[in-house]
Amino acid sequence: MSKIIATAAIRGAHKIVARAEEQLELALKELGPVAGIKLPDTAYNLPVILAMMGLRVKKIGDMREVLQHSRTLLKPIPSDNLWLPYLGDALDAGMATLFAQEVIEGLKYARNGGPYSGIWLGATSDAILREQGIKLVDGRMPGFAACVGGLPTTEAAVKLARDLQERNILVFMASCTNGVSMAEQLEEAGVEMNWETYLVPYGKETSAAVWALGFAARAAMTFGGLAPGGLREARDILLYNKQRVNAFVLALGEVDDEKYATAAGAINFGFPVIADTDIPQILPSGICTYEHVVSGISHDDMPSRAIEVRGLKIKIQKIDIPVRYGTAFEGERVRKDDLAVEFGGKYTTAFEYLTMRKLDEVEDGKIEVVGPEIDDVEDRAQLPLAIRVEVAGRKMQKDFESILERHIHSFLSMPMGVMHLGQRNVIWLRISKQAKAAGFKFRHLGVVLRSLILNEFPAIVDKIQVTIYTKAEDVEPMAAVAQAGYDDRDRRMGEMTDESVDTFYSCQLCQSYAPNHVCIITPERLGLCGAYNWLDGKAAYEINPTGGNQPVLKGEILDPVKGKWRGINEFVYARSNSSVEHFSAYSMLEDPMTSCGCFEAIACVLPGTGGVMIVDREFQGMTPAGMTFSSLAEVVGGGQQTPGFIGIGTLYVISKKFISADGGLKRVVWMTTNLKNRLGDKLAERCEAIGLPDLPGKIADETITDDLEKLVEHLAAVGHPALEMGEMI
Ligand code: SF4
Ligand code: ZN
Repeated sequence: MSKIIATAAIRGAHKIVARAEEQLELALKELGPVAGIKLPDTAYNLPVILAMMGLRVKKIGDMREVLQHSRTLLKPIPSDNLWLPYLGDALDAGMATLFAQEVIEGLKYARNGGPYSGIWLGATSDAILREQGIKLVDGRMPGFAACVGGLPTTEAAVKLARDLQERNILVFMASCTNGVSMAEQLEEAGVEMNWETYLVPYGKETSAAVWALGFAARAAMTFGGLAPGGLREARDILLYNKQRVNAFVLALGEVDDEKYATAAGAINFGFPVIADTDIPQILPSGICTYEHVVSGISHDDMPSRAIEVRGLKIKIQKIDIPVRYGTAFEGERVRKDDLAVEFGGKYTTAFEYLTMRKLDEVEDGKIEVVGPEIDDVEDRAQLPLAIRVEVAGRKMQKDFESILERHIHSFLSMPMGVMHLGQRNVIWLRISKQAKAAGFKFRHLGVVLRSLILNEFPAIVDKIQVTIYTKAEDVEPMAAVAQAGYDDRDRRMGEMTDESVDTFYSCQLCQSYAPNHVCIITPERLGLCGAYNWLDGKAAYEINPTGGNQPVLKGEILDPVKGKWRGINEFVYARSNSSVEHFSAYSMLEDPMTSCGCFEAIACVLPGTGGVMIVDREFQGMTPAGMTFSSLAEVVGGGQQTPGFIGIGTLYVISKKFISADGGLKRVVWMTTNLKNRLGDKLAERCEAIGLPDLPGKIADETITDDLEKLVEHLAAVGHPALEMGEMI
């Protein structure tokens, strides 16, 4: 490391550690050592400290040890002309800095009430971590940028943010330059900032940047299944970050000592620093996969330079529309005041319907609008809408229609200024005045669909035509035809059983994060993230025969009740790095499926009830198991088999094969109201089908109790069938 940087980083670290010590002393006096650190729902406490020191900071008093350790990492500040032959001292100073910053930030959570307000978000809950983590896992998000400081102008800030969003990079913002932070500049320009839009303002102080490194550390512990502990574990977590978490720091504006020290902390994680000023470069690569510090980069070039340095794989396709687009714009809303036109919602009939045709029946690239275009209607117009997509391809199959159609939602959410919710005939589409002013037309919806479908599904789709109808006289009769089509698909899917096929599909997408995890997806059990069912696996395999989804021949049946097959066992053993020898699809007690970190819900056995509880990942409260979702997730995740616990996709609950070897749906004694609402009528229908129409009313939830003893009383009072079934374990 350049001696200038090393000197500045060590100097900065001394200052920060001293500041943390001061603040800790004050807090000890004011609040006392047993006052708790009240972070929003998390099982990782202060995550960098946990990951690196194996120490759970729960109370103010726990911070003493942290800062004592920081002190030991600090070498005396070298005089400016002293040559430091190696990085070690500066890197240690960087680590000491991160610990001290986490203490400073953590102390803010020792006082009552959320310490952050306005645009600033501060600490992240585990629920958000997992939701965003899945995007990193499945590649929707190629990496994240920690932006430290502010830009010379508001326009430059907006441009940088948009350039990063367009590449689907998650943007964390902290610190400021001359009193101005990038996030405040975006706020001034009216840019929507939250986790949905990939723009996350952590805090105005430089210390808030440590939340970004905490995010990285937690990713390793959540998705990599790396347990914190001693030095070895700490090294593994750092290595994991270097190899799998594609992150970098954008240093904006003048770099002071504290920023140097923070940057040195980030370099420990293998995250390179890209600066807009002429700070000394550190080009030879050692700890980072590529360069450590690259400087003097113009704001326009920052995103592409960062991508190059970090080696991110990003595909930006150019689509011929007049607005920006990308997954980062998916979460953006179009407010009523900004509305040019809207379709559906509760106002008009609107639907989308995709079908396959013969190759000669589709004219590729034909996009037609039948009815008024955007310029023909007043602002805030409400129109009916039918989006007819017709595709053809040599390898296209009828079964893939629903998969392609399901993608319409995310594809049409991508253009900036277009909001799309729902699917099939329950959709709501809004286009903003800004998009209209930029020249966005209804026909561009077709352009987007054609480009993205061809791009994402090149192996199964060769030709596409799109027709957009905006007159009621066309839309209404077609709505009935589409309905018949949806019904037909549902029937076909409903008839498909695990017995009716000889092949299941694997999913190994999560191995980039949980190296031993394999999902086995059957017609009656979808992937635990809820995003992939058997048909998706089949289509993905057609699209990319060497990708993460492979066909797995069931082979000889070993146990039809527990769901064991020789072919599946062999596959899972081979693909889990020989860590999972036996696998049963229908039992959570014997050789259950492993879980990565993406599960939509966790099912776990509740001793004393004869049953199981199911908790969804949005639920932050306590459960009758005496654990929150976050603490359960720690037990379940990381790719190991944990009898009595499974991570599941929500829809698995209403499958005939839901823990069928262990007693099935009858075993469910408690489930969150979120889940009850999400399953809705389907849960009622399923209970009816197993001859227990009153079961939904007997399943408790958090509004009834989160206490195991009270739950048992409740179950006895309502006569829940699980009580008579006997203990599961
Ligand atoms: Fe990960 Fe399983 Fe979902 Fe695939 S199906 S993305 S392996 S959780
Ligand atoms: Zn996963």
